Amino acid sequence: MARIGGPTRYFVEVESEEDVREAIVFAKEKKLSIKVIGGGSNILFSDEGFDGVVLKNCMGKFDYSFEGDKCIVTADGGIVFDELVQWTIIKGLGGIECLSWIPGTVGAAPVQNVGAYGQQVSDVIKEVWVVELETGRMDILEKRECQFGYRDSIFKRDFYGKYMILRVVFEFRKFEGVRIDYKPLASYLFSHYEPWDIDLNTIRMAIFDLRMRKGMIPGLGECDFGTVGSFFINPEVNEDKLNYLKNRYDDVPNYSLGKGRYRIPAAWLIEKAGFSKGYRCGNVGISPYHALALISYGGTRKELMNLACRIQDAVWSNFGVRLEIEPDVVQE
Ligand SMILES: Cc1cc2nc3c(=O)[nH]c(=O)nc-3n(C[C@H](O)[C@H](O)[C@H](O)COP(=O)(O)OP(=O)(O)OC[C@H]3O[C@@H](n4cnc5c(N)ncnc54)[C@H](O)[C@@H]3O)c2cc1C
Repeated sequence: MARIGGPTRYFVEVESEEDVREAIVFAKEKKLSIKVIGGGSNILFSDEGFDGVVLKNCMGKFDYSFEGDKCIVTADGGIVFDELVQWTIIKGLGGIECLSWIPGTVGAAPVQNVGAYGQQVSDVIKEVWVVELETGRMDILEKRECQFGYRDSIFKRDFYGKYMILRVVFEFRKFEGVRIDYKPLASYLFSHYEPWDIDLNTIRMAIFDLRMRKGMIPGLGECDFGTVGSFFINPEVNEDKLNYLKNRYDDVPNYSLGKGRYRIPAAWLIEKAGFSKGYRCGNVGISPYHALALISYGGTRKELMNLACRIQDAVWSNFGVRLEIEPDVVQE
């Protein structure tokens, strides 16, 4: 898989809180900044590389207890997120089955509040345990303090680069039957299964199929290119903007958020602005399977960001809608 970005000066894998503290002291002594990563699936370092310390969370402790119909899980940040999803499915716990196959780690999941097919991880988060990179001080943030939003949290804004997420405490409940909020998933399930046959496993398998069709399972099928998944966040628009689009097109896909706000698929805007699936410009382009995924065939970050800017400009000048970039584009 073609990756983007240059080398880092130091790369440290931390397996314990003691390792984290040592790495912080090391970076301070060398007067270098720290960048925390998990699986590196949603981050774009510059082509010149990173002149600091990249800290990879490899902590892997896992603990759980049942309290009545609730299950409290404490999972270290280095655990692969999809392994947690699989564990909940085996245990018959609902809440993150629709997040099956999302790449990355538990520690990164709260950062952009990973979500898909009608679920988001904040629905089941209770606490986030962090260490402040400047001081080495540990803290526990309650869910409300994380200010979760759509693909958003305080870790992407006010606390950007401030903390390393050590572990996350989740609260799951027993799966009590399907509640499918997301139409494409519902129509897939109901066209393939009888309602009484739908369980956590069938949902996971349905999502595998849907993701494969969109080239959203890296390393599988023909998805052999570098990608961070969705490159832009699906934008929110008001009623006037939606009506303006509806006057121009019969088929404007949208999802009501209430209070006169709507979410529109960025992929639809991108295609209508003239960038089709499979578009290629040098060594970067758009996935042949999904217009929201920019891909690299061995290109540079600069090439990729140029393409992203061209897409943003085209969507803005055609529709007056600003597309926000989803992955972390590291500025140093
Ligand atoms: C093919 C593909 C499909 C995807 N599909 C989805 C999807 O459906 N829904 C969705 O929401 N996302 C999706 N993503 C994005 C990605 O899976 C998530 O953002 C994931 O949480 C990234 O995890 P990671 O461990 O790789 O994080 P990284 O890429 O390593 O880091 C991402 C960000 O989190 C920060 N970070 C990572 N770990 C920590 C930590 N322990 N403490 C503090 N900060 C940390 C980094 O500094 C960076 O800002 C997809 C990505 C790909 C490649």
